Amino acid sequence: MVEASSKRDIRKLKLDELKEFFAQQGEKSFRAQQVYEWLWNKSAKSFDQMTNLSISLRDMLKENFTINHIKVDHMQRSADGTIKNAVTLYDGMVVESVLIPTEKRITACVSSQVGCSLACKFCATARLKRQRNLSPDEIYDQVVAIRDQAELFFGRPLTNIVFMGMGEPLLNYANVVSAIEKITDQKGLNMASKRITVSTVGIAKMIVKMADDDVKFNLAVSLHAALDKTRSAIMPINETNPLHDLGKALQYWYQKTKKKVTYEYVVWKGINDTEEHATALLKFCKIVPSKVNLIEYNPIDDGEFQQAPEAALNMYMDMLERNGITTRIRKSRGKDIDAACGQLANKT
Ligand code: SAH
Repeated sequence: MVEASSKRDIRKLKLDELKEFFAQQGEKSFRAQQVYEWLWNKSAKSFDQMTNLSISLRDMLKENFTINHIKVDHMQRSADGTIKNAVTLYDGMVVESVLIPTEKRITACVSSQVGCSLACKFCATARLKRQRNLSPDEIYDQVVAIRDQAELFFGRPLTNIVFMGMGEPLLNYANVVSAIEKITDQKGLNMASKRITVSTVGIAKMIVKMADDDVKFNLAVSLHAALDKTRSAIMPINETNPLHDLGKALQYWYQKTKKKVTYEYVVWKGINDTEEHATALLKFCKIVPSKVNLIEYNPIDDGEFQQAPEAALNMYMDMLERNGITTRIRKSRGKDIDAACGQLANKT
């Protein structure tokens, strides 16, 4: 367990606040800039690492602040190269994040909440009650840890980030956006926004807010069914947030951002494996320019949900592609270590 300190976490301060603090101490403002770079760009975990500051200045900072930091204390590697990290937060809570290597990319899949409140029937994380939101620095640190693992184990840079770990990013919107600001900032990790994807269960009013905020990252929606009855049965959020509202929000999103939407979709035996469902998906895909990822189901024990046979996937594929919707079948990675989509449940 990491000790929580009673001192203020210095990373909660914005650059301006840090400058103000330094001014109050009679220090030059460029010192604040230096400290900020140590904290974000160089991911310093202690004040003693800040070697371009005098010892007395470092001591002054130690007296006033602490640097809360995540700890990766359990790492599992899959036969396919995928790495799953169990990440301990400063208060001892645990989330998971995953490094997914492919030929061309290294993707970090990060968590945004401890547990999840959404109760999707097919997802392991749903069985962990939502405990709390992650702070911007806890999200940022997961990315830094995976960036370092990418260099260490693969000798390659991190190329992409997906918010597809534990939690619903749009229910922790402000912190997710603030983390992305640091991740894309030149003084942070300097990564391109277009390489970042936020995946959501599809909360209409938050999608409208994202459009109004003119965010530059990509949007993926976990659709899984384009008929309300089915979607409500497997994703309770759909009851208060039906497909009609979702479609309207996506129209607004596209109008403002001109960004294509990606739909994530699992085809399950006996649930959504008929032509009626595929036709409904095609119709939904015509609302805004979009593409579809048919993702492989990762069983989470009791067998209520089962991956549909290949014929059903091909039926979807044919129907969508014939109508000009780009569709990909996404094989799961990291299944052997429970690191695949929907399997994150702190088993370790
Ligand atoms: N709350 C967000 C992000 C977390 S889930 C969201 O809903 O998008 C990341 C993706 O994994 C989602 O598309 C989700 O629907 C999918 N998923 C959940 N459980 C799964 C499972 N058992 N097998 C395959 N995908 C699953």
